[in-house]
Amino acid sequence: MDIGNDSYFKCPSCKKKMYRTNWISYHVSGGKTFSDGVFTGMPHFTPNLAKCPHCGALSFLNNLKETEIERYSKADLRDDYTKRKKLEEPEIKDLVKAVKQGFAKTSKEEIELRTTIWIELNNKCRRGDYVFTKSEMALWEKNCKALLSLLIQDQGNAKKDTKEIDPNDEKNLNIQITIAELHRNLEHYDKCAEVIKTLPKEMKWLKDQYLKKCKAQNRFTFELKNKKPHESVSLSPRSASPRKGKGKKGHSRMIEL
Ligand SMILES: [Zn+2]
Repeated sequence: MDIGNDSYFKCPSCKKKMYRTNWISYHVSGGKTFSDGVFTGMPHFTPNLAKCPHCGALSFLNNLKETEIERYSKADLRDDYTKRKKLEEPEIKDLVKAVKQGFAKTSKEEIELRTTIWIELNNKCRRGDYVFTKSEMALWEKNCKALLSLLIQDQGNAKKDTKEIDPNDEKNLNIQITIAELHRNLEHYDKCAEVIKTLPKEMKWLKDQYLKKCKAQNRFTFELKNKKPHESVSLSPRSASPRKGKGKKGHSRMIEL
């Protein structure tokens, strides 16, 4: 594994310096893919939606302006080395607070924020612990509903632009799988089956796994088994590629947590 130069940012809230480690190359071993698109076994990347280590404010790093992304000389870095702090990963309570305070300004940002909450809660299932507390379950369900609504709206807008979704378009395929998965999480098993069946026939091996869970009325995140033992699952790994882009302007949040 090789680590490159760190990226430095200035927190838009407290103006203090924070940094992210950049990876040049890395190895993945023993990775597993899950039905929500998460791939485990990666190094611990700083997420695009990160938390200031000084004041706790959240930022979408890809949105920070030039003035908030700093370049330092080696001497500056030496002076600052002991004082510097690394960007943190937000906790669920930070993310929920961000939703309530209207932190996301566009539909793309709200999708990223709510996807992060979804993944964080799903991590409980990934660890083999299927027990949500009553409040976690309520949060999970509300968030699944809101995220599903946003994705369907987003997908609808994309359809208008392109007339129809290309079945070989990996991005749209992944959105479609996420929509199916959220329906399953919400116990809309017929709807999940309906959406998953629209995937190309080459993905039968993957479709069958979702359909089997629908039949068993199992709503929680599960590990996807590869088509063949030596092949990897062709979903975009969420942990490896934080979403980019500024999203649509003029979006107003419709659903409160
Ligand atoms: Zn700060």
